[in-house]
Amino acid sequence: MDHTHGTPSRPQDVDVVVVGAGFAGLYMLHRLRQLGFSTRVLEAADDVGGTWYWNRYPGARCDIVTTDYTYSFDPELEKAWTWSEKYATQPEILRYARFVAERYDLRRDIDFRTRVIAARWDSGDDRWQLRTSADERIRCRYYVMATGCLSQPKAMDIPGAERFRGQVYFTSRWPHEEVNFEGKRVAVIGTGSSGVQSIPLIARQAKQLTVFQRTANFSIPAGNGPVKPERSAPLETNREAYRHAGRWSRVGVPSVPTMVMALYSTPEVHRERFEAAWQSGELAELANVFADQIIFREANDILAEMVREKIRAVVKDPATAELLCPQDHAITTKRACLDTGYHATFNQPHVRLVDLHSHPITTITETGVDLPDESLAFDAIVFATGFDAMTGAIVSVDIVGRDGVALKQKWANGPLNYLGLMTAGFPNFFTITGPGSPSVLSNMMVSIEQHVDWIADCLARLRADDMVTIEPTETAEAGWMTHMNDGAQITLFPTANSWYMGANVPGKPRVLLPYVGGVDVYRKTCDDVVAGDYLGFRRSGPAGTRCRDGVIRRVQPDMALVIDLLATLNLPPLETLPADQARFVMGQLNVGRPTGPEIGEIKDGELPGAAGPLPYRLYRPASPGPHPVVVYFHGGGWVLGSHDSDDPLCRDLCKRSDALIISVNYRHAPEARYPAAADDGIAAVRWIAEHTAELGGRPGALAVAGWSAGGNIAAVTCQLARDAGGPRIAGQLLLTPVTDCDTTRPSYIENGEGYILTAPLMTWFWDHYADATDRTQPKASPLRAPDLSGLPPAFVVTCEFDPLRDEGIAYAQALAAAGVPSRHITARGHTHTSLTMVDVVVSGAPLRAEMASALRSFFEPTPS
Ligand SMILES: Cc1cc2nc3c(=O)[nH]c(=O)nc-3n(C[C@H](O)[C@H](O)[C@H](O)COP(=O)(O)OP(=O)(O)OC[C@H]3O[C@@H](n4cnc5c(N)ncnc54)[C@H](O)[C@@H]3O)c2cc1C
Repeated sequence: MDHTHGTPSRPQDVDVVVVGAGFAGLYMLHRLRQLGFSTRVLEAADDVGGTWYWNRYPGARCDIVTTDYTYSFDPELEKAWTWSEKYATQPEILRYARFVAERYDLRRDIDFRTRVIAARWDSGDDRWQLRTSADERIRCRYYVMATGCLSQPKAMDIPGAERFRGQVYFTSRWPHEEVNFEGKRVAVIGTGSSGVQSIPLIARQAKQLTVFQRTANFSIPAGNGPVKPERSAPLETNREAYRHAGRWSRVGVPSVPTMVMALYSTPEVHRERFEAAWQSGELAELANVFADQIIFREANDILAEMVREKIRAVVKDPATAELLCPQDHAITTKRACLDTGYHATFNQPHVRLVDLHSHPITTITETGVDLPDESLAFDAIVFATGFDAMTGAIVSVDIVGRDGVALKQKWANGPLNYLGLMTAGFPNFFTITGPGSPSVLSNMMVSIEQHVDWIADCLARLRADDMVTIEPTETAEAGWMTHMNDGAQITLFPTANSWYMGANVPGKPRVLLPYVGGVDVYRKTCDDVVAGDYLGFRRSGPAGTRCRDGVIRRVQPDMALVIDLLATLNLPPLETLPADQARFVMGQLNVGRPTGPEIGEIKDGELPGAAGPLPYRLYRPASPGPHPVVVYFHGGGWVLGSHDSDDPLCRDLCKRSDALIISVNYRHAPEARYPAAADDGIAAVRWIAEHTAELGGRPGALAVAGWSAGGNIAAVTCQLARDAGGPRIAGQLLLTPVTDCDTTRPSYIENGEGYILTAPLMTWFWDHYADATDRTQPKASPLRAPDLSGLPPAFVVTCEFDPLRDEGIAYAQALAAAGVPSRHITARGHTHTSLTMVDVVVSGAPLRAEMASALRSFFEPTPS
């Protein structure tokens, strides 16, 4: 095979340059050729394969089942290639890359042994100017970096590494000829995936093996061998359906995300689910044991501890076992490993584990490794020290965009981009599986194909529309970065010092590099951008300039998942149902939801309402009382809900605020229309004020709170109490309250559909509750009260995507204007229901903390 250098006959002005001839570069070239774009691929190695060309260390294999880790773009290709085992070895995967290159005759457009050194955008010419290691200059309209996420080895940061005179190997740059460790004293430095895969095999040959470990990593047995029939059957039965399921899955491998939460299930369920994942030997299953494992540390600990038990059961020496048990990070916040006999390797007498925390390397010497208290001699050292992941290969090229701005400079505090595909100020420059996309949190083959297809379609569309350049807007990019950050914040990923966070490379900015929202959500996002006329991109050319500016994902990622999930249930709109059926549907939806935190006591009782007894539920903190009292009014549009329907929220507020919460079941419409709910509200507050001590409360310390229609009742109650001269209310917490019957405010128009509480549903609620004339009364629309002065201090929470947003804001402003001490926050990216969904919409937790702190503040003595 002759993989020669770029020949002089190669064109130096092409439509597209693709850098890298791994799986991404190969498929990109194939697609561009199909579309008729003149293309050159530049590759530093002397053959195709990328990762699988460079990483030839013993034991190198994929860690996604190979029948999933494979191209799916051509059914004929799939027929023509059969994988030999569950996790194919590096040589087999490299053979596959070569097979693909030959099958589509790709090599003729690839320059091997050619490194791209620099790239500069020429604004006058609307082209990129590239410079290669051979000092060749190439002009291209579009510049695609298919340079891989794990292709740039991390720079050596171990003192004295260059001094060693024995054999030196890097797992990421393994020699092509066979390496034999027979009879040798070998050191392996690093215990990430490459270390975990190679150590058992090196131990088989070496006379002595010393493993230097900085961080113990979670690893599960691969259970390699032939693919089990039950695993391959769905693919064989219906290839297209199987591939479709992979593309629309969370991690690029067909699976159904579990709804089982560790925090809300029994030890038996924990064990059963964990063992199933363990036996499967698949990382995708390990990531799907519990729905909350990547969100709550306590849930993660349950899973992590079961893995640690497995390690302790295998490793005979208890001290070594403890060192091999990962303790410093939550499971799956660093890439977990798949292994074959890794932990058992440490039972062999010639294998030793050195913990770099207690025995840091002082220096590498000519003959071995010096630790603070001993010098170890070696014949060979293997560095399995990992990569400058995701951004390393990109910024190692001197890329300069518009106005002379260097990419390295723009990304100095972390990679800023839109969809992980493009970055503002760098027109016509694309990255494949770069930071900002699911990338290394997914089956990369699925993510590569999705990116390549998106880019190819984009270039074809530009050409069809007579456009030449494309570039994201600053707004779209900033919006994507916010969305990326929102996603990261609801997970445990940022808590780990991982390469996902850039934490393995000294001085690298600490940001979560891959997108955590999932392959399915991400794919839909990219599709939606296109369907929205390339939302957030500016395109220009002879046909003019076209730009629909905007932000593609604005709802908090966890709330967006809830909305999507509800959509799949195909429920009838509540406003099309009679009230009793709507109540039934709501009740069913509440079954099985997370209950919220444990508190001291929950007790049901009855109190006298305006027209008869009303049930209530009392939530008591675990701390010793007496506690201040919050009378709470539930949501549900005066029609739905009851004293226990907001159970999780009440528990949460009780725990966080250390107040006694009493949720009152006021009468509901249409059976009891206006003003029944309001009359019950004030009656309940009066009775509770009079019986505070009996209830275990602190007399004189009483506030009200309510959500939605409950917020309406709370606000009205405050007005009625003020007008009647009592009882004294210390504060009002109004969460997305109904304050006015006007349904024409902008938030009704903007958010009237798609965010659970819809405009038609709100109209249905009003129709059930009050006649047209009654609605305008302050007792129904507290915003219309002629005077708001003298009301209790208020804390008003509105949500960005709520039809009721603007009336909540209006009430907060009116209170402030009337001199009422009031605070208002708008929950960015949240909907009407978000903040009540305890342990489901986790991004709401900080806002609930603020609500609780407001409640506490109501009861603080006023400074004299
Ligand atoms: C040991 C190992 C195992 C892995 N196992 C899996 C797995 O099981 N499942 C999975 O989904 N992912 C796995 N990955 C991730 C893997 O990188 C991707 O699956 C995939 O191979 C990436 O393909 P790519 O074409 O995007 O990048 P790469 O395969 O990394 O190819 C990039 C190419 O670009 C070239 N290049 C870089 N910079 C330049 C430059 N400036 N000029 C010219 N050429 C350049 C490099 O030489 C390289 O050949 C693994 C990674 C490693 C390191």
